[in-house]
Amino acid sequence: MGKQDLRSLNLKEMEILVTEWGYPKFRARQLFHWVQRQAVCEIDDMTNLPRSFRDRLKQTTVINCLEALSRQQSRDGSTVKLLFRLADGETIETVVMNYEGRTNQRDRATVCVSSQVGCSMGCAFCATGLGGWKRNLSPGEIVSQVMDGERVTGIPIDNVVLMGMGEPLLNYDNVVKAIRLMNDDAGLNIGWRRITLSTCGLVPQIRCLAREKMPIILAISLHAATDEKRDKLMPVNKKYPIGELLAACQEYVEITGRRVTFEYAMIKGINDSPQDAVKLGKLVSGIKCNVNLIPINPVPETGFLRPDDIAIRKFRSILQDMNINVVIREEKGTDIDAACGQLRRRRLNLK
Ligand code: SAH
Ligand code: SF4
Repeated sequence: MGKQDLRSLNLKEMEILVTEWGYPKFRARQLFHWVQRQAVCEIDDMTNLPRSFRDRLKQTTVINCLEALSRQQSRDGSTVKLLFRLADGETIETVVMNYEGRTNQRDRATVCVSSQVGCSMGCAFCATGLGGWKRNLSPGEIVSQVMDGERVTGIPIDNVVLMGMGEPLLNYDNVVKAIRLMNDDAGLNIGWRRITLSTCGLVPQIRCLAREKMPIILAISLHAATDEKRDKLMPVNKKYPIGELLAACQEYVEITGRRVTFEYAMIKGINDSPQDAVKLGKLVSGIKCNVNLIPINPVPETGFLRPDDIAIRKFRSILQDMNINVVIREEKGTDIDAACGQLRRRRLNLK
């Protein structure tokens, strides 16, 4: 029924297509370049391909560029949130963050991409989970957020974080394929170190990821230092408790040579005490890691509040005293609900 989205195909798959149709193999390279590097939206824009080949492509394939239904910019101008419409009418949110670069460098931009429509993991603090899960995104729909994020905002993108809607490791095959597509030097050519995948902690998939020969940055949503607390915040902890999760992280570090990042969303009165900081420090002290403290972003339905600045800085200094690499990540775009955990499926009543 549906036509194949060219943005989901890697070079090998394009070669098979092209040679099956009796065209020389080099046409696949040209095709890949148009689709993944030039990010064209129309098959007819691929001007160095013969007309007969383009007609053949149009019969069975399509380029599913994402349509931006809305675009919101934060007050400080640093963050743009896009609502994209997918080919089947579902919607996802993608965020482009324009961080100020160092002197004499142009600004660095990071795109935060979604991996699923909605999410089934049900974390207590997160807006995405509230609406439930609808479907996985295809590899093309994931890379398209980078291409079309750049096209719609005009901001060249250097870094990708898989921290938007959804749990990327529940859409493992499509996410891994999308990451390889973004990294391809004939495509967007985004280096492994410029790609971060954030997971709520699916242990078997973390162990698989370590073996993909794809040394991206792995971020773990930890958010609590004891199973008792984490069970309450993140249902996934009942299946994969902290001990198992940290063993998988250790393996990731050993196999890839990369530090892992632990994300810790600080919630007033829940996980922000000095005792929590000491427990967290002890937990991660044996692992090559960075800790990101994220004052919780408001999601009205949850009732959770961010701790005051004094509590946040105290928490950081306890970890620093334990020789842990720790930073406080002040989120951008909270005023337009574009920060971590604030993205949701929107109904299509905008147009
Ligand atoms: N599902 C993945 C990636 C998407 S969520 C994951 O959970 O890691 C991206 C990040 O936002 C995660 O670290 C998540 O724990 C965090 N997050 C969710 N809700 C949040 C909130 N209200 N405030 C701050 N961070 C939040
Ligand atoms: Fe899903 Fe991540 Fe939100 Fe948890 S924090 S509900 S895993 S998107």
